[in-house]
Amino acid sequence: MNIEKTIKSLENRGFKVSFHESGKDAVSYLCEKIKGVDVGIGGSVTATQLGLYEILGKENSVYCHGVVPGDATIAKANAAPVYISSANAITEDGEILNIDGRGNRLAAQVYGDKRLYFVVGVNKICPDFNTALDRARNQAAPPNCARLNLNTPCRVDGKCHDCHSPQRICNALMVHWAPMRGIDTEVVLINEELGY
Ligand code: SF4
Repeated sequence: MNIEKTIKSLENRGFKVSFHESGKDAVSYLCEKIKGVDVGIGGSVTATQLGLYEILGKENSVYCHGVVPGDATIAKANAAPVYISSANAITEDGEILNIDGRGNRLAAQVYGDKRLYFVVGVNKICPDFNTALDRARNQAAPPNCARLNLNTPCRVDGKCHDCHSPQRICNALMVHWAPMRGIDTEVVLINEELGY
């Protein structure tokens, strides 16, 4: 994986990028930037591993339906002026890919007057779009289906079958080619393996 190329590509597309050697450094950085506001966190193993809900919750009101389930939490998270998500993959060309089953995480990433942080381990970097999409469906989706107890075939054998399961986790694919208008978007890239 070419981290330097990825950072340059993201910046060329207009994304802000910060690079951190450790998750601990990244959390400190986010704590400096995010104080006294409502914060939404999309479902994310990376955010859980970093303890973002608990740590940011010391100085902010944090809403994450993975911690407090329910539509009210999702509504507050998506209306918050700061939103944190990971990504299923980032390409060395600077594209950010996310799949979603319900769409709350995607919705929060594309509309609103807010700050958006993609908090991503370097293990999510892929050389191009096709490998990134393959990563999302064959590496990220199966363990996420297991984690969320979804009845999908990828959960059984770890491979995407382009299924028609009612519990399909990848009903939509979002590709950020550039920051959305009105959304101040930063990729917080961490030199560690995080999430799926
Ligand atoms: S289409 Fe079905 S099998 Fe493929 S990743 Fe999505 S949920 Fe899993």
